[in-house]
Amino acid sequence: MYQALYRKWRPQTFDDVIGQQHITETLKNQVRSSRLSHAYIFIGTRGTGKTTCARILARAVNCEHPVDGNPCGTCAACRGIADGSILDVVELDAASNNGVDNVRALREEAVFSPAAVKKRVYIIDEVHMLSASAFNALLKIIEEPPEHLIFILATTELQKVPATILSRCQRHSFRRIDTAELAAYVEHVANAEHFAITHEAAELIARLAEGGVRDALSLLDQCSAHDKIDVDAVYTTMGLAGKRRIEELFDRVIDHDTESALKSFSKMWMDGKDPIGTLGELFTLMRDVLMLRVAPKGGAELISGGHEIALLRRYAARLTSEELTAGMGTLQDALIAARSARSPRTTAELCLVTLCSSLLKQDMPDFNARLSRIEEELASGAISFIPRGGRPAPAPREADEEPFEEPEEERPPLPEEDDLPWNEEPPAPAAPPCAPWEDEADELDPAQFAEPQPEDELPEARGAAGEKVRAAVSAREPVSIPRLPRRRRARPFGASCAGRSAHASRRTCASIPAMRPSCAESCAATC
Ligand SMILES: [Zn+2]
Repeated sequence: MYQALYRKWRPQTFDDVIGQQHITETLKNQVRSSRLSHAYIFIGTRGTGKTTCARILARAVNCEHPVDGNPCGTCAACRGIADGSILDVVELDAASNNGVDNVRALREEAVFSPAAVKKRVYIIDEVHMLSASAFNALLKIIEEPPEHLIFILATTELQKVPATILSRCQRHSFRRIDTAELAAYVEHVANAEHFAITHEAAELIARLAEGGVRDALSLLDQCSAHDKIDVDAVYTTMGLAGKRRIEELFDRVIDHDTESALKSFSKMWMDGKDPIGTLGELFTLMRDVLMLRVAPKGGAELISGGHEIALLRRYAARLTSEELTAGMGTLQDALIAARSARSPRTTAELCLVTLCSSLLKQDMPDFNARLSRIEEELASGAISFIPRGGRPAPAPREADEEPFEEPEEERPPLPEEDDLPWNEEPPAPAAPPCAPWEDEADELDPAQFAEPQPEDELPEARGAAGEKVRAAVSAREPVSIPRLPRRRRARPFGASCAGRSAHASRRTCASIPAMRPSCAESCAATC
């Protein structure tokens, strides 16, 4: 019976695993030194070797004669685990055994010592699919496992695994395989299988697999029907348009040649190319151009490598990053819509029409793209700005107008003490003796009333005028305050009330009885 390539070429030792040396070396060291954890969790995207490494580890810990941390593959334990005859190593698919009953059954069975090997190993694949109660049941045994037990969990979605489980496991993250390394592996497998494959085709397969070994070998398997596996054979097998035709289509789009773009797409459709695949290839091309545009020194690692870099640079010189992001947004929407559309072809054609005539779109990214195009052309001198009627644009103002600040010396003087109204009244009681400094300022200083103070603790007004006010307030008699010049009167309260609300400043002034009749309004207005 024919065995799929990815199964036939599944690694049997840690040394056979490609692209994950940071994990395989650690596990080999642990097996060599017998310093094994009771629980591991392997994280990574599909086809990067999680389940493979879990199986190798299960054999390595039970191998009778491990070779440098690798399972020997020849002893009874290695062979028994590989062919499934030893039941102490159990592989569980959490996607189909996700209930609490499955985990409870596992827990009851796990407490027994292994029958044929040293360690009982449970490999739980896609562990994020377990239900919450199943996770709780699993947590119980992972917390305090028996000596003979090892759990190896594997998942593609780490965020769905509870933190209580994660914190009890040794975590290993599998990375995507580098394109060059994966291409070399594809060539190696193809040569071993006696397939005629070109280096470009191996690179294309590696790029399409996006770092997954299993996907790469599956693609190679599909292409193996061709006598010679070249780039065209890969494109044909995958139903993809190919880079030349996608580049032609992209040329039509950036030339705003809607008719030619639709004809080009229609021909691809007639040749059996998948509309979603075509949009996806266009999306990848635009992504590469955008990467070159926004990170011109980013190097080859940022671009997918499907197109000539010189061509990508030419595209990058013609398009702004706003135009590219707006176009990619349109493509992304179309890709999502096409998967559920009744006619993916029509969705793709609609997308091409929108891309060719950006004026049809009225959303913000597209508006930004058009604006940035105008700005760029203005900056480069490709277009120039001529105001209506040919008149020159008004010259910019020299400087912003400074806020008016009245000089201190020009302000109207305060009224003399003789002008105060209470001076006309009968003579006041003798003033108490004043300190020498009090003679210098005989006038009422409004700043003293800036902060709220209880009525009984009215601040001492200086001099005879202050004494009069104090006596009138103590006797609960009405007192009138002279109307000070506007700026003089407003400034102390405005300054004291800075940062407060009008309401707060009104309360401040109102709490001072002497100020209540005349000042509250103006203070509130100032503040
Ligand atoms: Zn062995």
